[in-house]
Amino acid sequence: MGRSVLVTGGNRGIGLEIARGLAEQGHKVAVTHRGSGAPEGLFGVQADVTDSEQVDAAFKQVEEHQGPVEVLVSNAGITDDTLLMRMSEDQFSRVIDANLTGAYRVAKRASRGMLKARWGRFVFISSVVGLSGGAGQVNYAASKAGLVGVARSLARELGGRNITANVIAPGFVVTDMTDALNEDQRTKALAQIPAGRYAEPAEIAGAVAFLASDQAAYINGAVLPVDGGLGMGH
Ligand code: NDP
Repeated sequence: MGRSVLVTGGNRGIGLEIARGLAEQGHKVAVTHRGSGAPEGLFGVQADVTDSEQVDAAFKQVEEHQGPVEVLVSNAGITDDTLLMRMSEDQFSRVIDANLTGAYRVAKRASRGMLKARWGRFVFISSVVGLSGGAGQVNYAASKAGLVGVARSLARELGGRNITANVIAPGFVVTDMTDALNEDQRTKALAQIPAGRYAEPAEIAGAVAFLASDQAAYINGAVLPVDGGLGMGH
């Protein structure tokens, strides 16, 4: 059955691949963007997840277009890496606001419709770094670890209503985010990955599609690493 899906940050990178994958399966898929416009074939709504009013307006548009959101993929995220000694409070807060508080904003807004429908799927895109930490990533790792607490709390709050909340923890994925890594970081990362390569965005999308499906109805509060063995299941 085609579900009403919203993917935050679905205009490019991993989010776009997730959105395309779910659309190919016959779901009605909307994505948020911050001014780039909607990718071809997908319904786009403009929203910055750091702004609750924009989030609310985006949900209203999605509801009018394809019905209340049944599957929420909270994917929008940023990095702003530097060592703790040099990390300003603003750098810390900005990343938390986008990656963690942003996920709270969209999850809260989506929960309304899911509760009414007594069915829902939350999938939060975290990171291997949220579980293992990362030098120079205190802000990012904290935001990604926080998503595990969010998902598990939602699983407890809403699990009795056919609503699941799970986390995917990707390792290194080929996107603009990893393009920004330097050669040294890249070589070190590859040496740690049993698969010996980065993931393709489609490999993250496959895991999302499974968690969003009816087959995954009994999986709740889980953290699913998709990292080529980097975290060894954590
Ligand atoms: P990209 O940098 O390629 O894309 C990030 C996406 O998030 C863009 O669509 C961007 O929108 C959106 N976004 C960022 N901030 C906001 C905001 N405040 N409001 C709304 N949208 C926002 O990243 P990836 O595709 O690589 O990453 C997607 C997710 O996967 C992120 O959460 C990231 O942390 C996570 N991840 C990525 C890994 C990787 O190796 N690439 C590994 C592990 C996790 P815009 O186009 O407007 O900038």
